Amino acid sequence: MKIANRCGRAALVLGEEMADVADASNGLFGPDPMSCYERWPEFVDFAARVRSGTAPLVEAELGCPVPTPRQVFAIGLNYRSHAEESGMAIPEVPATFTKFPASLAGPFDDVEITAAMVDWEVELVAVIGTGGHRIPEDHAWRHIAGLTVGQDLSERHVQMLGTPPQFSLAKSFPGFGPTGPVLVTPDEFTDPDDLQITGALNGATVQQARTKDMIFPIPELVARISAICPLLPGDLIFTGTPAGVGIARQPPRFLQPGQVLESWIEGIGTIRNHCTPPQH
Ligand code: ZN
Repeated sequence: MKIANRCGRAALVLGEEMADVADASNGLFGPDPMSCYERWPEFVDFAARVRSGTAPLVEAELGCPVPTPRQVFAIGLNYRSHAEESGMAIPEVPATFTKFPASLAGPFDDVEITAAMVDWEVELVAVIGTGGHRIPEDHAWRHIAGLTVGQDLSERHVQMLGTPPQFSLAKSFPGFGPTGPVLVTPDEFTDPDDLQITGALNGATVQQARTKDMIFPIPELVARISAICPLLPGDLIFTGTPAGVGIARQPPRFLQPGQVLESWIEGIGTIRNHCTPPQH
């Protein structure tokens, strides 16, 4: 199953068409996209019965599939290749921070480049369906509603201003968390723990890896995070970025107004964000 946010309303994606969730369910679910996650098992039963869409899928109409999560977890240095390029030790526990939810944006939204050191980080984002506290690793996938593509955009100057670094603030400027284009349920993948992930800048690949290279795979992240924080329906987990970020390059590279950042994950699709000059 694929779920999207069409003009602020929950929608099911059926091939090249979309079905409005509130209309198709006679108001049982929707229009708020968050309502799908609140009663996830019931929603899955309803969605399985919807066979056809009523409107064409139009990229420009798509917003964040999960626009207002209560908690957004993000993991730093979760690929060996990225820890190495950052000159950091391989973490022994997940380096966990938050992207404050106001930073979330739609899959095709513009990103305002307000500073000289804005960097890219393509990431697989896991979305919680049924919540839980102390979820065992071998139950974790049952708590995942689906997967989507995200960018953990990062302002490296703010990030490195103090000691220790300011991950959460540096990664929470408006527009720094584009996600989408759709949420895809785990059953749609042959192996949801092994997906190709790619980032491209102006059409040139800058990041490429497989998600099986994560140091802490999704089930372990769910277990470790929920051992402390109860996970709630609709919560997001940004699972970390592979090698190829701008700051690790020689010389370092950062996003410039006029550039186009594309982020793709196998089985989910592409998000595309145009970088724009600061708006005064
Ligand atoms: Zn990241």
